[in-house]
Amino acid sequence: MLWPLARRRHLAPDQAQRLADVRQKNPESETWLALVEAALAESQDATTWDAVVSAPMDSRPARAPLLHRAEVGVHRRSASRFVRRLAGLAGLDGGGAAHRLDALDLLEAAIRQDDARIDALATGDPSTLRVVAQVAAVPLLRACARTIGSEVAAGGAWWEGYCPLCGAWPTLAEFRGLERKRWLRCGRCGIGWEVPWLRCPFCAETSHENLGYLAPEDGETTRKVEVCDTCKGYVKAEPTVSELPWWGVLLDDVATVALDIAALDRGYHRPDRPGYALELKVVEV
Ligand SMILES: [Zn+2]
Ligand SMILES: [Zn+2]
Repeated sequence: MLWPLARRRHLAPDQAQRLADVRQKNPESETWLALVEAALAESQDATTWDAVVSAPMDSRPARAPLLHRAEVGVHRRSASRFVRRLAGLAGLDGGGAAHRLDALDLLEAAIRQDDARIDALATGDPSTLRVVAQVAAVPLLRACARTIGSEVAAGGAWWEGYCPLCGAWPTLAEFRGLERKRWLRCGRCGIGWEVPWLRCPFCAETSHENLGYLAPEDGETTRKVEVCDTCKGYVKAEPTVSELPWWGVLLDDVATVALDIAALDRGYHRPDRPGYALELKVVEV
């Protein structure tokens, strides 16, 4: 009889069901979904990832996300194991390259959205390592959201287009509830923040003449793409009955790749630069 060497982590039933649904409809995104599935399962494990966050609440510039200049502690063994697992799922473990990756370095570069630094760590395909790095950061950023995320809500209105916790651009604009209030959602830490209806997250354009929508032609009418003709930025949008769970934001991002393609085809893009150039250290605890 074989005994499992490590405890298997399982998804919650609602996560598993949504994942199966997205998987069935998006077979071309299987590698990405496998990474997301691993991140969802890993994020269940609060004991491994419960982040020790020391964030300088007082000395932050007014428009800086909560994690700016923070130090986040992780367990090196858990982080290394998880990064190796993701690298394996993405097909990056040839020649033992994944074993030589410094997981803490990779997590720090990912959270800071420092693509040049991620590329420098790559021994194989840098674009694959960028995807691995972004997914690898999810359990840690979720832990940060659990630890200090409530201060986002307590802090009152957030007017910036980037995430008030981690500085990433929003993955999704959610039109929530009967009132259709517009919430931007971060696809890394899962935080949401309410914003005015007419305002580009990337360049703060507010003129309706320069803001618009792309709607899919295939009969799917609920999801759209918000576009800005001033900066050519776009963000996917959907109505929701109530707040999407954080993992729903990740899965809906995969489920709506067709909208990304439609936006890119029409000359819109996601900004290359990070929402906020976060200074942050990932340290061993
Ligand atoms: Zn975030
Ligand atoms: Zn814009």
